[in-house]
Amino acid sequence: MRIADKIAARQTFSFEIFPPKGEFPLEEARAVATELAADRPDWISVTYSAGGSGNSANTVPIASSIEHELGVTALAHLTCLGSTRADVDAYVSGLVDAGVENVLALRGDRAPGREAIDFEHASDLIEHLRALGSGLCIGAACYPEGHVESPTEEESFESLYKKQEAGADYLVSQLFFDNEDFYRFREKCLRHRVRLPIVAGIMPFTSVKQIQRMAFTCGASIPAKVVKRLVLAGDDPADQARAGVEYACEQLVDLAANGVDGLHVYSMNKPAVAHAAHETLLACGYLGA
Ligand code: FAD
Repeated sequence: MRIADKIAARQTFSFEIFPPKGEFPLEEARAVATELAADRPDWISVTYSAGGSGNSANTVPIASSIEHELGVTALAHLTCLGSTRADVDAYVSGLVDAGVENVLALRGDRAPGREAIDFEHASDLIEHLRALGSGLCIGAACYPEGHVESPTEEESFESLYKKQEAGADYLVSQLFFDNEDFYRFREKCLRHRVRLPIVAGIMPFTSVKQIQRMAFTCGASIPAKVVKRLVLAGDDPADQARAGVEYACEQLVDLAANGVDGLHVYSMNKPAVAHAAHETLLACGYLGA
């Protein structure tokens, strides 16, 4: 089913998984997806890793298995930096053949040797996907604190508007640790004529190191209340990870109470994290029993 139709019908709940690297990536990802599917999310998204890790070839097979073996709607990510139109067309044919009708259209991160060929920005990819007439439902990324490369807030919103005008159906947000950033962003979108539904993306922090890496790669700021949680958790990695899940669940409850279009949990392939989020949203009434 098209994700845009799900969002139009109700507030959604979804998970992200990534195809693991290594010898048995498909089996591993299937095992994780099977556990996540038990919570009956509205969809499970599967990342696409261009370059380095070489697991992009597994995105469509895993998405297909989620859709057809687990009976859950799948969202296949696709990045376009370093890709030609022919590469994208082949990927789309693969999706259509596999019966996956949802794609998240992304530019991808800049990396040495990964230059733009036929697509400079995500909006170029979205325009091309629309022109193909494949009937795919197209999601796109947004950034409550602005994209790290955007020199000004104005430019950040301008590029979101371009994604909307190119034909995106909805937006999924980058992770953030302060819900106020998301609420401010939501309001500003309307002022900048960006009227697409926005699904809020939440990632529990797992350690001091991980959250520092996130701050640099995603440009997410770390509020004092998160620093305090980590200080209180002390040096034990298990306590730090527990604090991260607790904090993420509090974020979810607050977002649920503030009328979000959808909640997307970056599960990091950890079913326990996904289950904790699911239990929390059942308990607060966001999800029906
Ligand atoms: P764009 O929309 O192209 O934006 C990139 C930058 O260019 C921004 O600064 C923007 O303001 C600017 N810009 C955009 N359009 C224009 C224009 N027309 N003129 C001038 N400037 C412009 N990465 C992966 O590799 N694999 C994944 O599976 C993946 N999944 C993701 C899922 C989500 C929900 C999110 C939020 C991110 C994901 N990413 C993934 C990371 C993403 O690829 C990076 O954040 C990337 O740096 C930007 O992607 P984008 O699609 O937002 O790009």
